[in-house]
Amino acid sequence: MQRVIRSTFSGGVVGLGSHGFREKERQALLREPHEGEAGPGRYRYPSVVPDLPAPREYLPFLEAMHERRWYSNFGPLTRRFETGLGEAFGTAEETCVTASSATAGLSAALLATGRPGPVLVPAFTFPASLGAVRAAGMIPIIVDVDRRDWTLRRDCLERALSGAGATVVMFVTPFGMRPNFDAEIDLCLRAGAAVVIDNASGLGVRRFADGLPRDVFEVFSMHATKPFAIGEGGAVFAHRDHDEALRAALAFALASHLSPDGPRWGFNGKMSEFHAAVGLAQLPRFGPALQRRQEFVARYIDLLANRDDLEFPREADRAPWQFFPVLLPSEAAVERFVTAASAVGVEIRRYYRPSLSLWPDAATFGPCDVAEDLADRMCVLPVRSNAEREEAEAITTLTAEALNGAL
Ligand SMILES: *Cc1c(COP(=O)(O)O)cnc(C)c1O
Repeated sequence: MQRVIRSTFSGGVVGLGSHGFREKERQALLREPHEGEAGPGRYRYPSVVPDLPAPREYLPFLEAMHERRWYSNFGPLTRRFETGLGEAFGTAEETCVTASSATAGLSAALLATGRPGPVLVPAFTFPASLGAVRAAGMIPIIVDVDRRDWTLRRDCLERALSGAGATVVMFVTPFGMRPNFDAEIDLCLRAGAAVVIDNASGLGVRRFADGLPRDVFEVFSMHATKPFAIGEGGAVFAHRDHDEALRAALAFALASHLSPDGPRWGFNGKMSEFHAAVGLAQLPRFGPALQRRQEFVARYIDLLANRDDLEFPREADRAPWQFFPVLLPSEAAVERFVTAASAVGVEIRRYYRPSLSLWPDAATFGPCDVAEDLADRMCVLPVRSNAEREEAEAITTLTAEALNGAL
């Protein structure tokens, strides 16, 4: 999956989707190993180095699983992992339901709302947000984002709620930075719409104290490239009342004829016991890893403090930081930066690109100029939890030098 993302998005192909997926790229994907391409080996400092527990740390869980011959379907390891995630990141009112990925979790949350859609989706996000809506059998409507905090634009939201007849709104927390969108959520709920928050790369920082209002779902990813990584996996936090509907949506909605409130149908989006085993081993490792990621980002913030031609978050504790996002003044500067960083071995990716408004067959509500502009100018800088001090210093200073040189 990572390679697909790399060869389509980092390669500068725009307007892609299935139509733009060229034969050359298809051939490249079939070739093993992927020599000479973006991927492990090409860069001295790749954009992401996953930080997962070693097999010996989860082996005892796997042995217990094998003894029981219970490998999936919300088994004991999965339940224990959900309890652990709930204690670490949830509140007493909430349930935590795991999924095979965040994308599956998003689709399940959409189905568990019990509303048919259409679904408003912000244009500035990772394509999984759009894919999850389509996989849930709902119609996405793409809406522009705010220039300052990169999330759904309030004025567009207001107009689209009535104008597009939306019954569900998806919010995305850009790069795992959760803004305070209480007022926007309130607006949706008052208009009778349910809310699904795609906070895929945000698992790990403290969530809000009161828990989620009813009809608001928050979804996280535990993909290998995310800060809280288990390989593949997702987690949905929601009010306890939605527990059954979420599990039903993730397990073929087998019993939905018994419960008129449940989702009308479902699919297979369950987490396996194998992944839950990795998750159980990851839980105690995560606190120190989070701290190292935030220290890494604090170094970037320090190094770039004087650059007022760049936009980037200034609080290191805002997110667990899959990457550190920096908005450059122009696309030409982005290209110079990517090239200069690459020359010193640092992989810089462009992310949330292209804007969903440019995706094939995507219906939009009004123009998405802000998202299209952000997508042209956004770069993400590498962040590590598993680097030695010298390596962390090398990555942050080389990156900052390349960035200064490109401006
Ligand atoms: C990573 C990511 C996803 C996809 O998560 P998976 O677990 O790989 O399905 C969805 N949305 C956003 C914003 C992401 O960053």
